[in-house]
Amino acid sequence: MEQAEIGLIGLGVMGSNLSLNIAEKGNKIAVFNRTAEVTRKFHAEAGALQNQIVPCETLGEFVAAIRPPRPIIIMIKAGDPVDQQMEHLKPYLSTGDIMIDAGNANFRDTMRRFDNLKDSGLTFIGMGVSGGEEGARHGPSIMVGGTEESWKRVEKVLTSISAKFNGEPCVAWLGENGAGHFVKTIHNGIEYADMQMIAEIYGILRDGLGMSASEIGNVFGRWNTGRLNSYLIEISEKVLKANDPISGKPMVDVIVDRAGQKGTGKWSVIEAQNMGVAATAIEAAVAGRILSSQREERVAAERIFGLPKAERPKDGMAFLADLENALLAAKIGAYAQGFAVMAAASAEYNWNLPMPTIARIWRAGCIIRSQFLDEITSAFTKDPHVANLIVTPAFSKMVKETDGALRRVVSYAALSGLPVPALSSALSYFDAYRRSRGTANLIQAQRDFFGAHGFDRLDGVDKHHGPWGSGLEEFA
Ligand code: NDP
Repeated sequence: MEQAEIGLIGLGVMGSNLSLNIAEKGNKIAVFNRTAEVTRKFHAEAGALQNQIVPCETLGEFVAAIRPPRPIIIMIKAGDPVDQQMEHLKPYLSTGDIMIDAGNANFRDTMRRFDNLKDSGLTFIGMGVSGGEEGARHGPSIMVGGTEESWKRVEKVLTSISAKFNGEPCVAWLGENGAGHFVKTIHNGIEYADMQMIAEIYGILRDGLGMSASEIGNVFGRWNTGRLNSYLIEISEKVLKANDPISGKPMVDVIVDRAGQKGTGKWSVIEAQNMGVAATAIEAAVAGRILSSQREERVAAERIFGLPKAERPKDGMAFLADLENALLAAKIGAYAQGFAVMAAASAEYNWNLPMPTIARIWRAGCIIRSQFLDEITSAFTKDPHVANLIVTPAFSKMVKETDGALRRVVSYAALSGLPVPALSSALSYFDAYRRSRGTANLIQAQRDFFGAHGFDRLDGVDKHHGPWGSGLEEFA
């Protein structure tokens, strides 16, 4: 019998859809799931794709069904289950076989798993898969980290199943060990910021301008035909226009305002901090979700403080145009921060992350897919090592055209008591980044005063101390 080209363990939401996608693109695939009943049901329901799928109920049978060196995708619950599954699988594998963790792993776990297998003759790939259920079934964006040799073994299958943007596959080998999962983590961090910013604009339209959900849906629908064209704006229009079949009200109006999170946003922020990179919009987005989850406290605080009255802007049409431009300006800040974190990690871990390629494979298939990412691809292709996206010619022009709008929107929100943590942090980031003379001279003076840390002088003399003595005399 012809052997399968690839194997997959874990027929949950993502694994089952990915398997069908792999089979549909003409690749024979062996599948295994911890609960055998799930495997039987999956195969029974695979319809015309049944012949391309080899359902296996034991790991021995599963491994024997795959052509060596065997690439095996593990698409199960992230964390300990992956380590356990790898341990169960190992005794059946031979030299050159590749275990591929396609779940949402912390890249530090990926580095550890990669290192642990180093002397075993087996290889490990950490693979970020974005696009949710729909992406897995019809074309995800795939971020691969591992050895180049192991990538070569899976390149054909992964290229066949990935999303395509103007015919170009949204999959790439990004570097050794944890590179793929790191990039996927930052993708999710940017996704958090993008979603938070859209929600903040929604808040201004709802609570500042008094618009209904479907009216806001119409605004997003119009924006989706312009520079903000993206999957997240597109689905925002759709959800805002959907009605609750139970109450008949707009669906969003009956959803509790408490956002969930699984950890990738938090990991992005932690790694940005570890790397010494300011990712303030992503931080604000994670903090925004945390505050959203403290609903009881917010309800109690509103009883104490009430809410300021939001005045309607005088020129509604002009303000709508400002909101559109403000979202674009802030989005540029968030993406610039995400790419800056990746650039720092690339240097730290010697990954040599290809920035234009990362932008290219995010143009389709993933949750942050957009026209905007095509523009980022062009900017990084022209200058792959630029210090920050916002200083590229194309994006500096966009920022100059839109930062005034962001300023007006943030001012309006502040005066109206409407929270815009991600929009305002993107604005402050820009204002701090483009100012040659900041205010940290005072911080350096304070540090020298209480800790004798010394400071560098503008005239070029370094490690200087101020004329304030030890600073401890007053405590004597
Ligand atoms: P599901 O909850 O749908 O499925 C979980 C799968 O994991 C099942 O096949 C389950 O097997 C298996 N499993 C759980 N624990 C173990 C274990 N200890 N040993 C072996 N198998 C186990 O998860 P998803 O498909 O949604 O997610 C899978 C991975 O993909 C996760 O890492 C997730 O973060 C990531 N991901 C999810 C996305 C999404 O939109 N859902 C998007 C991108 C990534 P059993 O049937 O026996 O319980």
